[in-house]
Amino acid sequence: MIEKERQVLVILPHPDDEAFGISGTLATHIKQGTPVTYACLTLGEMGRNLGNPSNMIDELNPSLVITFYPGYSVHPDHEATGRAVVRAVKRIPKEKRPKLHCIAFSNNCEEELGQPDIVHHIHDSVKEKLGSMGAHRSQTGFFFDEMVKRYEQGDPDTVKRVEIERFWSYKWDD
Ligand SMILES: [Zn+2]
Repeated sequence: MIEKERQVLVILPHPDDEAFGISGTLATHIKQGTPVTYACLTLGEMGRNLGNPSNMIDELNPSLVITFYPGYSVHPDHEATGRAVVRAVKRIPKEKRPKLHCIAFSNNCEEELGQPDIVHHIHDSVKEKLGSMGAHRSQTGFFFDEMVKRYEQGDPDTVKRVEIERFWSYKWDD
Protein backbone atom coordinates (compact mmCIF):
# COMPACT_ATOMS: atom_id res chain seq x y z
CA MET A 1 0.00 0.00 0.00
CA ILE A 2 1.48 3.35 -1.00
CA GLU A 3 0.45 6.22 1.22
CA LYS A 4 -1.58 8.94 -0.51
CA GLU A 5 0.32 12.23 -0.84
CA ARG A 6 -0.75 15.81 -1.53
CA GLN A 7 2.08 16.50 -3.99
CA VAL A 8 5.18 14.49 -4.84
CA LEU A 9 8.36 16.22 -5.99
CA VAL A 10 11.10 14.04 -7.48
CA ILE A 11 14.50 15.69 -7.82
CA LEU A 12 17.10 13.67 -9.72
CA PRO A 13 19.89 14.70 -12.09
CA HIS A 14 19.39 12.48 -15.15
CA PRO A 15 16.40 11.80 -17.42
CA ASP A 16 16.59 8.03 -16.81
CA ASP A 17 17.23 8.04 -13.06
CA GLU A 18 13.59 7.37 -12.20
CA ALA A 19 13.08 4.45 -14.57
CA PHE A 20 14.54 1.46 -12.80
CA GLY A 21 14.26 2.28 -9.13
CA ILE A 22 11.10 4.29 -8.61
CA SER A 23 8.89 4.56 -11.70
CA GLY A 24 6.39 2.02 -10.31
CA THR A 25 5.99 4.14 -7.19
CA LEU A 26 5.52 7.29 -9.28
CA ALA A 27 2.95 5.57 -11.52
CA THR A 28 1.05 4.50 -8.40
CA HIS A 29 0.99 8.07 -7.04
CA ILE A 30 -0.31 9.33 -10.38
CA LYS A 31 -3.05 6.67 -10.41
CA GLN A 32 -4.01 7.77 -6.89
CA GLY A 33 -4.59 11.25 -8.30
CA THR A 34 -1.51 12.82 -6.71
CA PRO A 35 0.37 15.38 -8.80
CA VAL A 36 3.95 14.21 -9.40
CA THR A 37 6.55 16.73 -10.55
CA TYR A 38 9.85 15.37 -11.86
CA ALA A 39 12.60 17.93 -11.63
CA CYS A 40 15.42 16.62 -13.75
CA LEU A 41 18.44 18.78 -12.99
CA THR A 42 20.46 18.08 -16.13
CA LEU A 43 19.62 17.25 -19.70
CA GLY A 44 21.46 13.94 -19.53
CA GLU A 45 24.35 15.36 -21.50
CA MET A 46 26.99 14.99 -18.80
CA GLY A 47 26.16 18.55 -17.82
CA ARG A 48 27.26 19.83 -14.42
CA ASN A 49 24.93 22.79 -14.52
CA LEU A 50 22.58 21.59 -11.78
CA GLY A 51 19.34 23.43 -11.20
CA ASN A 52 18.17 24.89 -7.90
CA PRO A 53 15.86 22.63 -5.83
CA SER A 54 15.06 25.37 -3.24
CA ASN A 55 12.94 27.34 -5.76
CA MET A 56 10.94 24.38 -6.68
CA ILE A 57 10.29 23.17 -3.12
CA ASP A 58 8.96 26.58 -2.05
CA GLU A 59 6.74 26.79 -5.09
CA LEU A 60 5.20 23.30 -4.99
CA ASN A 61 5.03 22.76 -1.22
CA PRO A 62 5.25 18.95 -1.65
CA SER A 63 4.24 16.47 1.07
CA LEU A 64 6.91 14.07 -0.20
CA VAL A 65 10.28 14.72 -1.83
CA ILE A 66 12.25 11.89 -3.48
CA THR A 67 15.97 12.16 -4.25
CA PHE A 68 19.27 10.27 -3.87
CA TYR A 69 20.71 9.57 -0.42
CA PRO A 70 23.90 11.65 -0.16
CA GLY A 71 26.89 9.41 0.45
CA TYR A 72 25.16 6.29 -0.92
CA SER A 73 24.29 7.00 -4.54
CA VAL A 74 27.63 6.41 -6.32
CA HIS A 75 27.60 8.88 -9.26
CA PRO A 76 28.89 12.46 -8.60
CA ASP A 77 25.73 14.03 -10.10
CA HIS A 78 23.56 11.85 -7.84
CA GLU A 79 25.63 12.88 -4.82
CA ALA A 80 25.50 16.60 -5.69
CA THR A 81 21.74 16.43 -6.23
CA GLY A 82 21.09 14.56 -2.97
CA ARG A 83 23.22 17.03 -1.01
CA ALA A 84 21.49 20.06 -2.57
CA VAL A 85 18.02 18.64 -1.86
CA VAL A 86 18.88 17.77 1.75
CA ARG A 87 20.21 21.31 2.24
CA ALA A 88 17.06 22.82 0.72
CA VAL A 89 14.64 20.69 2.76
CA LYS A 90 16.63 21.23 5.95
CA ARG A 91 15.96 24.98 5.76
CA ILE A 92 12.25 24.27 6.27
CA PRO A 93 11.27 24.21 9.97
CA LYS A 94 11.13 20.61 11.17
CA GLU A 95 7.36 20.52 11.78
CA LYS A 96 6.67 21.74 8.22
CA ARG A 97 9.23 19.61 6.39
CA PRO A 98 7.99 17.27 3.69
CA LYS A 99 8.92 13.62 4.03
CA LEU A 100 12.24 12.93 2.31
CA HIS A 101 12.55 9.45 0.78
CA CYS A 102 15.98 8.64 -0.59
CA ILE A 103 17.26 6.16 -3.14
CA ALA A 104 20.51 4.44 -2.16
CA PHE A 105 22.43 1.77 -4.02
CA SER A 106 26.08 1.93 -3.03
CA ASN A 107 27.57 -1.39 -1.84
CA ASN A 108 27.69 -0.21 1.76
CA CYS A 109 24.21 1.34 1.93
CA GLU A 110 22.47 -1.45 3.88
CA GLU A 111 25.45 -1.92 6.13
CA GLU A 112 25.48 1.75 7.12
CA LEU A 113 21.85 2.87 6.77
CA GLY A 114 20.21 -0.40 7.76
CA GLN A 115 17.33 -1.93 5.85
CA PRO A 116 15.17 0.51 3.85
CA ASP A 117 12.14 1.59 5.90
CA ILE A 118 9.93 2.16 2.83
CA VAL A 119 9.36 -0.89 0.64
CA HIS A 120 6.79 -0.66 -2.15
CA HIS A 121 5.45 -3.65 -4.06
CA ILE A 122 4.50 -2.13 -7.38
CA HIS A 123 2.95 -5.16 -9.07
CA ASP A 124 -0.04 -3.10 -10.29
CA SER A 125 2.23 -0.57 -12.00
CA VAL A 126 4.67 -2.95 -13.71
CA LYS A 127 3.32 -2.08 -17.15
CA GLU A 128 4.08 1.61 -16.63
CA LYS A 129 7.47 0.77 -15.13
CA LEU A 130 8.56 -1.40 -18.05
CA GLY A 131 7.31 1.32 -20.39
CA SER A 132 9.45 3.86 -18.58
CA MET A 133 12.52 1.63 -18.71
CA GLY A 134 11.92 0.79 -22.35
CA ALA A 135 11.80 4.51 -23.16
CA HIS A 136 15.46 4.82 -22.12
CA ARG A 137 16.88 2.19 -24.43
CA SER A 138 20.18 4.01 -24.78
CA GLN A 139 20.70 3.08 -21.11
CA THR A 140 18.68 -0.11 -20.77
CA GLY A 141 18.78 -1.68 -24.23
CA PHE A 142 21.45 -4.25 -23.52
CA PHE A 143 19.60 -5.88 -20.65
CA PHE A 144 16.02 -4.69 -21.06
CA ASP A 145 14.74 -7.36 -23.48
CA GLU A 146 16.33 -10.14 -21.46
CA MET A 147 14.84 -8.74 -18.25
CA VAL A 148 11.32 -8.50 -19.70
CA LYS A 149 11.62 -12.09 -20.94
CA ARG A 150 12.67 -13.34 -17.50
CA TYR A 151 9.98 -11.30 -15.82
CA GLU A 152 7.29 -12.77 -18.05
CA GLN A 153 8.63 -16.27 -17.34
CA GLY A 154 8.24 -15.53 -13.63
CA ASP A 155 11.92 -15.79 -12.72
CA PRO A 156 11.81 -15.07 -8.95
CA ASP A 157 14.92 -12.82 -8.80
CA THR A 158 13.77 -10.76 -11.75
CA VAL A 159 10.22 -10.43 -10.39
CA LYS A 160 11.69 -9.18 -7.11
CA ARG A 161 14.02 -6.72 -8.84
CA VAL A 162 11.22 -5.29 -10.95
CA GLU A 163 8.40 -5.23 -8.41
CA ILE A 164 10.12 -4.07 -5.24
CA GLU A 165 11.14 -0.41 -4.88
CA ARG A 166 13.03 0.63 -1.77
CA PHE A 167 13.57 3.97 -0.08
CA TRP A 168 15.31 5.18 3.04
CA SER A 169 13.75 8.01 5.02
CA TYR A 170 16.46 10.62 5.38
CA LYS A 171 17.89 10.58 8.92
CA TRP A 172 17.89 14.19 10.08
CA ASP A 173 20.41 15.15 12.70
CA ASP A 174 18.15 17.88 14.14
ZN1 LIG B 1 21.78 9.14 -12.96
